[in-house]
Amino acid sequence: MHSPLRRLLPFICLSISVAASGISTCKGTNTSSMPTVLHNGRVFVAADGDAPQHFASAIVLDPGTGKITHVGNETDPAIVKAKAAPGAVVHDVQGRVVLPGFVDGHMHLCQTGAGLQKLNIRPSKNLGEIQAAIRAWAAEHPDLPRILCQGWFHPSTDGNELATQLDGLDVPGQNRPVYIDAEDMHSSWLNTAALEELGVADMQDPPGGHIRRGPDGKPTGVMEETAALGIVWPFLANKQTAEEKQQHVQAALDAYIAAGYTGVIDMAMGEEDWASLQQYRKEHGELPIWVAAHWLILPQPSSEDTLRQVDRAIELQSQYNRTSSPRFRITGIKIVADGVVDACTAAMQEPYSHNNQSVKPMWTREALEPVLRRADAAGLQIAIHAIGDATIKLAIDGLEAVGNPAGRHRIEHLETTAPEDVPRLGALGITASVQAVHLDPAGMTAWEKLLGKARCGHVFPYAAFAEHGAALALGTDSPTAPYAPLANLYVATTRKSALERNNTAQTTPQFALSLAAAVAAATRGSARSCFAEDRAGQLQPGREADLVLVDMEWDAEKLLDAKVAETWIRGKKIHPVA
Ligand SMILES: [Zn+2]
Repeated sequence: MHSPLRRLLPFICLSISVAASGISTCKGTNTSSMPTVLHNGRVFVAADGDAPQHFASAIVLDPGTGKITHVGNETDPAIVKAKAAPGAVVHDVQGRVVLPGFVDGHMHLCQTGAGLQKLNIRPSKNLGEIQAAIRAWAAEHPDLPRILCQGWFHPSTDGNELATQLDGLDVPGQNRPVYIDAEDMHSSWLNTAALEELGVADMQDPPGGHIRRGPDGKPTGVMEETAALGIVWPFLANKQTAEEKQQHVQAALDAYIAAGYTGVIDMAMGEEDWASLQQYRKEHGELPIWVAAHWLILPQPSSEDTLRQVDRAIELQSQYNRTSSPRFRITGIKIVADGVVDACTAAMQEPYSHNNQSVKPMWTREALEPVLRRADAAGLQIAIHAIGDATIKLAIDGLEAVGNPAGRHRIEHLETTAPEDVPRLGALGITASVQAVHLDPAGMTAWEKLLGKARCGHVFPYAAFAEHGAALALGTDSPTAPYAPLANLYVATTRKSALERNNTAQTTPQFALSLAAAVAAATRGSARSCFAEDRAGQLQPGREADLVLVDMEWDAEKLLDAKVAETWIRGKKIHPVA
């Protein structure tokens, strides 16, 4: 293929046929724009509205401007002309499906990169397996100052976690701190050395968080919600060298590009990550994929301190916005209003079924409203994490009170939305930001015990949100779940497990999306959710030529066998690098 060479020699047309696959041809020399034509493909074109699937066979890109100039069929005069243009690169995509580049509607870039370097204990099914995995990792990595793990699946330890269970796993003579992120990233499990270096014994519970303690009042090892987000994460971020942080950014970018993403919405941006990304831009120029970020607002003891965080987001957005910096910007704020079902920290209207206990949302309506109003008034988008039906109701009520449907405010996760609240999203212009990987049946083994059968019968109601007019944005919430977009589409469409292929269980199959609707939600929907639809998310003339070539059959059941073969950004192939 020509593109890597073309990047180096943008104005020189090679007169030889490049050997790689022998399927590109190049005509003569040219000094003006040299179109790239991808033809003999199945180019996904979703019309506005309900996204009925429709395929064209060819697409013309202008690598000079980075934009799409035409989408159509081989006989279109514009395609014929582009193919014949001097210097044109004509690329036979051999029947592959051409999709808009994926846009992860909710993810965490720096944590994804950091996670790629941690021990993943998700495959460990119980405490013994977790301990064995850590022991082996510690022996393999004797030089690391800390043992960092991710992927702790709550049901594997059933709420009985203790710091002492993670002690003594290190190599002889060493007693390194061990930090384990829960799979959902809402809590951390620490060993005794970690609790000590963090100084947890002298801490109070932070607002919106909880430090688990024994009867003697001493911390027992688990930091929940803002105790993890606001204490553990910043501590560890501070311990990373600048070089390590850059490695994390690079690892996440490489992984995302290889997976087929061309844009992401980062859903919990803070000072540390912002500085890392700015440093990356300083060293490398612009990020290869575009990033729209929501600034994380943590509840503070005083409302002035809470609002000060909103002001910081406003200040940053005034410099990094859609006009001034479309590929790296602040688009809104993020509020985490409850936890997750598996940790029983999602706030439900009725108590949990197994213990008859309830938790409250982390924000009261009174604390929430001034934050929402200040953000909305400044033109920032609001994103509220809400998983329990009580929190979802609170979030919808809060956004209803703000009363700005054009602001494209959004609710993240929406896992247990009460049936009567489902139609409210569309009516209020609230984007349903959903992550299908979280409904993977392999990750929901505890739900029936925790919520009971009746509530489990109407969880993750994606199709119902759409039927009632809500815009969908599909994401993965990486690193809380795998980021691979095709596996995410598989779960959204089949409601079956991508983690365990032989698992035949389905999660509320009545709410499955069609393949076309799921693809649209993962591309156009996510782009629209952050006001980027004029540039991204659709294969249409005038949009940026961000696309992926996928080896696939257009069949939801076969998505786990589908593969992203190439990723193109702004008219240039950037993966795989030849
Ligand atoms: Zn998230």
